[in-house]
Amino acid sequence: MHSFKTVQHYFNEAADQLQLHDDMRRMLLTSQREIRVQVSLELDDRRLATFIGYRVQHNRARGPMKGGLRYHPEVDLDEIRSLAALMTWKAALVELPYGGSKGGIAVDTRALSHRELELVTRKFVDEIHDVIGPDIDIPAPDMGTNGEVMAWFMNQYEKYHGFSPACVTGKPVELHGLPGREEATGRGVGALTLKLLSRLGRRADQTRVAIQGFGNVGAHAAKFLQESALRVVAISDASGGYYREGGLDVMEMVRFARENARSLSGYAGADRISNRELLELDVELLIPAALGGVLTAENAPRVKAGVVVEAANSPIEPEADAIFEERGITVLPDILANAGGVTASYFEWAQNRQFYRWGLNRVRQELDRVLSEAFERTWQYAQEKNVSLRAAAYVLGISRVSRATMLGGVM
Ligand code: NAD
Repeated sequence: MHSFKTVQHYFNEAADQLQLHDDMRRMLLTSQREIRVQVSLELDDRRLATFIGYRVQHNRARGPMKGGLRYHPEVDLDEIRSLAALMTWKAALVELPYGGSKGGIAVDTRALSHRELELVTRKFVDEIHDVIGPDIDIPAPDMGTNGEVMAWFMNQYEKYHGFSPACVTGKPVELHGLPGREEATGRGVGALTLKLLSRLGRRADQTRVAIQGFGNVGAHAAKFLQESALRVVAISDASGGYYREGGLDVMEMVRFARENARSLSGYAGADRISNRELLELDVELLIPAALGGVLTAENAPRVKAGVVVEAANSPIEPEADAIFEERGITVLPDILANAGGVTASYFEWAQNRQFYRWGLNRVRQELDRVLSEAFERTWQYAQEKNVSLRAAAYVLGISRVSRATMLGGVM
């Protein structure tokens, strides 16, 4: 997977549209700061383990930098750098007052005990605490991390800097978190999917959907879409795919995964398929909500869905994107499709700073408003300029960052 190359490719297409000068392109593609640290700890059996942690702070022209924290064995600098740049365009597209960043640790969390996971998190904070913070760079959950990890993160940060609930978002609701933050990315994916289907003249109740990934994003998106009358026929996670022609029982699968260490392994309520088969199923809608780079030049010609919603970051490689465009498949790009997470994180951060909190209904209403407005702007631009939704989203995001850079000055 060449993540940064993918981001660079889409960036350059938008920069051509905007006729951005080469000097500005170079500046916008260069990270502000890239950190690589050693995370070492003593395991439960007294052996020493050493992992590598990263934090890439991509751009701060529009505000403090914001970006998730990913725990996955394949995390590397290239991937984190590309995800940090995506965060910059995403925050600008939905008009949040943030720049972009991302972090991660190359670690397989399934091989760690609960105590070891906590220690990994605290050791990582020890290494980076003086270059992050509520006004500098604010982490949030991503693949392999959750509210509990954010709580440890905050607690460790506060040992150095005192009370600072706004130093991370996605915290548990009982500990300065926001009701609705956990569901926000998946719910946003669902709400934006409904808007897109409606614009394309497609009916929700005649739409069959396949979803890759059943973690925070995939599970909440599946739930929302099933409640909105779509037929969720296939879901997969790291244990493989699950298929039922008449529609899966999403709530039963959510309960099963909750009681089974967040895995669907052993779920017997559906036929088994492979992850590969899921992507090529005969459905109207495909939602990759797990890894990057899963739709490639190799499998894109066999994708049958007419609409692909990028709930994950960078699931479609540029060659596959070109094939989809040629085949008339509509793609809702990641920087719009999964922007619900950072939007709710913004609400959490702003409210932490004011010692104030909205209830769930207000969070959902405001989330819908911000995402709807971003969708409308993107849709209108794509229609007016006759470009893809991805090109429109990138142009809108990048133009705001470049404008903020010029307004602020580079002296
Ligand atoms: P998660 O760790 O909660 O879930 C990941 C899911 O993917 C799990 O169900 C896992 O089993 C599955 N998976 C792993 N390997 C797989 C494989 N080979 N095939 C199929 N499934 C596989 O992660 P998440 O927070 O749901 O994030 C998923 C994606 O959404 C990532 O690309 C992430 O960057 C993006 N995203 C997340 C958020 C957020 O708020 N959590 C926000 C924006 C974007």
